[in-house]
Amino acid sequence: MSDDKRAEDGWPPLYKSEIFREGPPTAAGLNAVSVEQGLEVFSGAATARRARPKRTYLEPARELPVFAETDVLVVGGGPAGTAAAIAAARLGADVLLVERYNHLGGLSTGGLVIWIDRMSDWTGRHIIRGIANELLERLPTGAVQGPKRSDWGCKDAATAAYWAQRTAAFHGIVTWSPTVDPEALKTLSMQMVVEAKVRLLLHAWATAPILEGNAVKGAIFESKEGRHAVFAKVVIDTTGDADLIARTHASLESDIDEGDIHHCINTAFLLAGVDMERWLAFRRDEPEGFSQFMAQGRKKLSFFEKPFVSWRNDIALFMGPRLAGYSAVNVDDLSAVEVRSRQLAVGHLEIYRTAAPGFANAFLMLGAPQIGVRHSRRLNGLRKVTRQQWDTGKVWSDEIGVSTSLSPKFPNISVPYGALVPAELDNILGAGRHVACDANSHTFLREIPQCWLTGQAAGVAAALAAGAGTSPRAMDVQAIQRELLRQGAYLSPAVATAFNPASAAE
Ligand SMILES: Cc1cc2nc3c(=O)[nH]c(=O)nc-3n(C[C@H](O)[C@H](O)[C@H](O)COP(=O)(O)OP(=O)(O)OC[C@H]3O[C@@H](n4cnc5c(N)ncnc54)[C@H](O)[C@@H]3O)c2cc1C
Repeated sequence: MSDDKRAEDGWPPLYKSEIFREGPPTAAGLNAVSVEQGLEVFSGAATARRARPKRTYLEPARELPVFAETDVLVVGGGPAGTAAAIAAARLGADVLLVERYNHLGGLSTGGLVIWIDRMSDWTGRHIIRGIANELLERLPTGAVQGPKRSDWGCKDAATAAYWAQRTAAFHGIVTWSPTVDPEALKTLSMQMVVEAKVRLLLHAWATAPILEGNAVKGAIFESKEGRHAVFAKVVIDTTGDADLIARTHASLESDIDEGDIHHCINTAFLLAGVDMERWLAFRRDEPEGFSQFMAQGRKKLSFFEKPFVSWRNDIALFMGPRLAGYSAVNVDDLSAVEVRSRQLAVGHLEIYRTAAPGFANAFLMLGAPQIGVRHSRRLNGLRKVTRQQWDTGKVWSDEIGVSTSLSPKFPNISVPYGALVPAELDNILGAGRHVACDANSHTFLREIPQCWLTGQAAGVAAALAAGAGTSPRAMDVQAIQRELLRQGAYLSPAVATAFNPASAAE
């Protein structure tokens, strides 16, 4: 394709300088783009979505072979599903984990979201532990980059300034929020699942729940072999989009906070062959040059991102530009986001190679295999984390974990078991980025550590419920809490003290 033709279609020419002399590219078919809060806001869903025929097709009913009967069926092998499967299997449950791709870790690996958000609170206390901690501790040396334990909570200006450039200091406080090697995390997630004796089923896409009244009895999945049914005592939906729950009569929430990025979609990418220390020095020491560079990038591309550090100096992480206004559960929109994200990735490569210190030899190492969906649907749960809770420091009696808050002005956030239990369904739990919360609280409850946290709790609850022959909603919450503590999770002192009076001192 000629460069003229590429530009006409919204694609920057490859490996050429001054590629956008004519101004920012307009993406073909995405013509209703406006600039708001640094996000590319798409307001023309009708343009991306072609009209669909009105007719329908009546699929004949058919008998399905049963693939397995299991104690716990976990659907979706992202951070939440991986933790759920491991936690349940460690309690002796027979666990089947179904994942549509060829790896575990979901967005934290396949989505290249390799910046693991805060697991220490603003005082430096390590509050997201359990399987989250085990994963980070077991990653090989060199696969995790972050501050040492003794620096968590540190307010020393120089230390905080150093880590602020490297994903691990906010509001002048150093936090435990490292970057990781996605391939190492894939390997370890798989290793831990196999060690726990989980039956792992990759390349299998769950399509529908098996329902009897309000009770979920299993799920149907599609694979190269066709359609199969799985029966389970308890099902855990960790698809990130509540795919199974969405195909029941249960209600879901999908309102968004338009002023926040929590609803944006885009496909992340890695540029390699870079010298990030050189880039960081430029950002730090040449503020004028830096702002000129960013202005130039914005002029050429409209939506222009700064790179994040990764686990290596020669690899830069880009988790944007963020695209708003698309639905993460509409296949036309998902396709449009992939096209636009790729155009923007190649556009970034051109601009950085041309003018960014440390990027002269950059190349596009990888566009994420998984699209970066921050939000689609959230459960209507028995309980819900809301913005009001942030101010109160409320500790739920059914707490299954504690999340860090958005800023030091808020206390830690207690996460209730009820946020994993769909109000209108039995035998199913939801964990990960679709737990029950309002749009504001979703901004942090969707983060990877919080997904490990809710996943582990769901796994424990499911295994105990399956073992006791009861429904997860009827579970004795103290039994779940006791087991979570035994598995190394952190609970607020007010809750943990019931099991171990010494923990009240923490
Ligand atoms: C661009 C971007 C930047 C982000 N930045 C950060 C950050 O800096 N730090 C941070 O901690 N978090 C960040 N997040 C949030 C975080 O990555 C996700 O919210 C988190 O990974 C969600 O975990 P999960 O297990 O709930 O879902 P996912 O990670 O989405 O995993 C769901 C898994 O289920 C599988 N699946 C889905 N549907 C089916 C099905 N029907 N059948 C079978 N398998 C299925 C998927 O393939 C996937 O593996 C970011 C997210 C995005 C998109």
